[in-house]
Amino acid sequence: MASLNQQPIHHFLFIPLMTRSYLIPFTDLAKALAHHGQQVTIVMTPLNAARFSDDYAINFNLNIQFLPLYFPAQVVGLPQGCEAMDSLPSPDMATKFLQASNMLQQPLEKWLQGLDSLSLPSCIISDVCFPWTSILALKFNVSRVVFHTVSCFTLLCSHNIDHYKVFDERDKSDFEPVLVPDLPDRIEITKAQLPFFGKNKALDDSKKVLKQFKEAEASAMAVVVNSFQELEPGYVKAYQKFVNNLWCIGPLCLYNKTTRSEASIDDHESLNWLDSQKPNSVIYVCFGSLCHIFDQQLIKETSNCPFIWVIKEGSYTAELDKWFKEQNFEERVKGRGLIIRGWAPQFQILSKPAIGGFITHCGWNSTLEGIIAGLPLITWPMSNEQFYNEKLIVQVVKIGVKTGVEKPMKAPEVLVKKEEVLKAIKQVIDGGEEGEERKKRARKLGEMAKMAVENGGSSCSNLTSLIHLVSYFNQHRKRHLRHV
Ligand code: UDP
Repeated sequence: MASLNQQPIHHFLFIPLMTRSYLIPFTDLAKALAHHGQQVTIVMTPLNAARFSDDYAINFNLNIQFLPLYFPAQVVGLPQGCEAMDSLPSPDMATKFLQASNMLQQPLEKWLQGLDSLSLPSCIISDVCFPWTSILALKFNVSRVVFHTVSCFTLLCSHNIDHYKVFDERDKSDFEPVLVPDLPDRIEITKAQLPFFGKNKALDDSKKVLKQFKEAEASAMAVVVNSFQELEPGYVKAYQKFVNNLWCIGPLCLYNKTTRSEASIDDHESLNWLDSQKPNSVIYVCFGSLCHIFDQQLIKETSNCPFIWVIKEGSYTAELDKWFKEQNFEERVKGRGLIIRGWAPQFQILSKPAIGGFITHCGWNSTLEGIIAGLPLITWPMSNEQFYNEKLIVQVVKIGVKTGVEKPMKAPEVLVKKEEVLKAIKQVIDGGEEGEERKKRARKLGEMAKMAVENGGSSCSNLTSLIHLVSYFNQHRKRHLRHV
């Protein structure tokens, strides 16, 4: 990784959405900037600060601090202590969660007011869903950057669907595939597969919110994306037309590769077990931090392949526990399969040579982590922008095989047939010539991902450009202040 000692030191203020899959790339970006000699303050809530402090903060002697702000969960009707979106009892509470998150504006403003001019941040880096950060930036005369934790493919698809009013006609059925206009590839999508905001276009409220996000993005000094140029060049170029200074700076987890320390089983247990398995033989199954997967949809038995199956805390219900016991499941798969209940050391697991494929819900972090590991992916999208990611994986970069899910998961219903999953596993592990070509493409992409963050790589250079831009803004700001 580049270490740019000559860079002036700036103070970056990060304002992330409080959910694990956003906090992870935000803290990875903090580390990347800190490695470049920069100072970072990350707005956190007390519980999130505790959750992340071991992994990301001072113990690495980097210039990163947390700014813990009280999170008004109960004020908006959320359960006490609910400070992260991944700990919401139900996805329906997301709107309330956003409401509480927006209430952080006031205490943050107060904190900024208390700083002397030398301690003020040079740049705010925030999630796109906080348009009020543009007010703060103007008020305190600091630069502002929007950080997207999704791909340019997703950004461009969403933009074009909105711009060409693709789904505004009321008569389109939820399952009719419709062409997304003006993309580098032929991509179709159904209304049912659109992320939350797209689907509620008819609602005035949601349109208004989306418009505010767009305005905040368009007025930012720069937009950075946790992706890399070589992965989706046509999509990066196309989206650059709509925003100022769009730069891909990822995969950011590569700046933090040794520090994902959280695990619910001893790291060595799963990692050592993997060391005893044949190369490219094990299937890793994990559906991210948010999905509430219903029992019926879990793969009751993978195939004859060795496997690691991660079941997140909230998904491990009493009913599932009963099923495991009745089936004597773990005894039956002993030596061939490992169940991880809770949080797995995913990044380290994926980098083990024994892993041959990854059944993923296509969350963007997981997708990037699978790509970095050079793995073919088996796609099982469930919600949000995951259907876009599936299309990028399968149709654009061609490193994945679909399980055949066509709509987001809502009620307890079986969306994937066991045979489809087994077929996809076979295609990935032992897929003949086509499978070998897929593996080759995946390996090549993995190498490109790593090169992007190396010294002189595209993402590393873009990060440097970002620091230069903040310097430029600062110099002009100082001159401006002298004239006031
Ligand atoms: N993750 C992990 N262990 C787990 C589950 C998830 O380390 O047991 C990490 C994973 O490596 C990724 C993030 O959590 O970095 C999940 O983010 P993603 O965008 O893939 O999915 P989401 O959680 O938003 O659905």
